[in-house]
Amino acid sequence: MKVNGLEVKNFRAKVGLEIHQQLNVGSKLFCECPITESDEVEYKILRYLRPTQSELGEVDPAVMFEFRKKKANIYIYNSKSACLVECDEEPPHPINMDAIKAAIAVALALNSKIVEELHVMRKIVIDGSNTTGFQRTVLVALDGVLKADGLDVPVQTISVEEDAARLIEEREDAKVFSLDRLGIPLIEISLAPMETDPKTVEKVALALGRLLRLTGFAARGLGTIRQDINISIEGFPPCEVKGVQKLDLIPKVIEYEIMRQYHLYNVAKLLKERGLDPFSSIGEYMDITEVFEKTGSKVIKKALDDGKKVYGIKVKGFKGLFKMEPYPNVRLGLELADMARAYGLGGIIHSDELPGYGISLEDVERVKVRLSVGESDAFVLILAEERDHETLSALRQRLLQFFEGPVPETRGPTDDGRTRYSRPRPGAARMYPETDIPLIRVTRELIEECRKFVPKPWNEVLKDYMQKYGLNEKLANQILDSPYLSLFEKVCSTTKLSPTLVSVVLTEHIVNIGREGFDTSLLDEERLMELFRLLDSGQFSKESVVEILKCMCSEKVGVSECVKKLGLKPLSEEELNKVVHEIVESNKVLLNSMGERSFGPLMGMVMEKVRGKADGGKVSKILKEEIARMLQEIQRSK
Ligand SMILES: [Zn+2]
Repeated sequence: MKVNGLEVKNFRAKVGLEIHQQLNVGSKLFCECPITESDEVEYKILRYLRPTQSELGEVDPAVMFEFRKKKANIYIYNSKSACLVECDEEPPHPINMDAIKAAIAVALALNSKIVEELHVMRKIVIDGSNTTGFQRTVLVALDGVLKADGLDVPVQTISVEEDAARLIEEREDAKVFSLDRLGIPLIEISLAPMETDPKTVEKVALALGRLLRLTGFAARGLGTIRQDINISIEGFPPCEVKGVQKLDLIPKVIEYEIMRQYHLYNVAKLLKERGLDPFSSIGEYMDITEVFEKTGSKVIKKALDDGKKVYGIKVKGFKGLFKMEPYPNVRLGLELADMARAYGLGGIIHSDELPGYGISLEDVERVKVRLSVGESDAFVLILAEERDHETLSALRQRLLQFFEGPVPETRGPTDDGRTRYSRPRPGAARMYPETDIPLIRVTRELIEECRKFVPKPWNEVLKDYMQKYGLNEKLANQILDSPYLSLFEKVCSTTKLSPTLVSVVLTEHIVNIGREGFDTSLLDEERLMELFRLLDSGQFSKESVVEILKCMCSEKVGVSECVKKLGLKPLSEEELNKVVHEIVESNKVLLNSMGERSFGPLMGMVMEKVRGKADGGKVSKILKEEIARMLQEIQRSK
């Protein structure tokens, strides 16, 4: 397998995709609240979640991890977007059958076996993102096939579930969630693990996303579709990367995970070759605060001032291993730092980066003596609260795990396609029946009713679209994938603008200025509609659309205000004639020598002067006439 141009020899990776798509079906899954983003604070609830033992007497490791942080959960909501159901103060209402119908349509399109009875289940949730401590989920179908990019990818399950509350702030003492998103219906589709290259996985996700959008039930826009990706190298359990939102991040995340896991595998192998074993190699953590009493390190002084202690762990035989970086951003040091961060700990320092952080060579020598660290050994310093034994043992545990290779855990993506530790993987038995909702029989009539929602294949829809709007294939694909699809149709049916122009503006222009750093989230449908209406009525030329869009992204003012501000009021016919005439007049020499071929350079000169204020086609027409007239005049005067 090749990763990022690197040959990772004899290695096979498996990638499983799980897609969550919000369903736009009018209201939430277990109440009648509308689906609308609104974090206005009308009410506030404070809650603590506490772990309890399962019927087998075990406590889930992921539950303990969250509980350890001892954070409160604060839920904010308003009556526009949530009710007592989301607060868990009232039992759930009957399930939204439109969400179930959407899932059945998708199941039919994927040739899945639809279940005979729908049983709502409770899946334990421990991060505070649901007020109940569980998420309701209902299995609709299993065993299907997704055809994508020449592959037949087995579909394991299709479920409908409620979306989680939206985390809006993570404070030291509490997490703040908004309840507007809690309870929005999601369809969850799990694909069987694939053994293919990362780019193909992206294509599979795209195909599935398109199928969902074509049903007409899928919500559009960023955050409405999220993918969880399970990645494992052969012989090891998978790590789950949760919440990848952008498709083009998928191959990057997979490549990074494979490199990271491969490095962990190599480290474990190397440690074995060195004859090291975990228990004699990884020391206990020790309070060595006194070593730093006279240190010049500001980082350490600050931690001590905050009442923290310095703990040291000796790591035998690890010298150089923490900073070893076989692939970009793949290092054991980073593994530890990411984990410390997830436990809410800023300060972790390993010996491969010392002297550094103001810690002098003398400090280092003192630590070595205190921890009995030898020439080929390493050590880790942790700045932690006294008695934070949970975090200290978790970090020590991570050191022990370096002997095992990759270990299962839940990770999150970063914006640049790396992944970071977020928590241990939850235990297996996490489902319980929801006793508040009766089971629902899936009748033949219900399935027949859903058949009309089964979408046509993408290629057929694409062809229809190209024909209807005269778009080329690239633009048709782009607009069909775009969150602005319905706006596009509306603009085309209410203005005389060319569909090609409208689709270029809605896909390419907006994407490009987003890449330039403009905040395109300010471009809501209402303002864009105004932009097209004014363009259609000749208030400015199409050449100035990009400039106006940029202005619209910079401040939330009306489109006509942007036009005024940019001085883009179009020239009148008279003014345009004047400009053209002046330029031709002052370039008679050119005209004389080149004749009609002088059109190109003259057009350039005129456009430079009137760009944004006149339509190119119109300028070209006037200029051609002017040149012809002038040439006749010259002819006559000869
Ligand atoms: Zn509600």
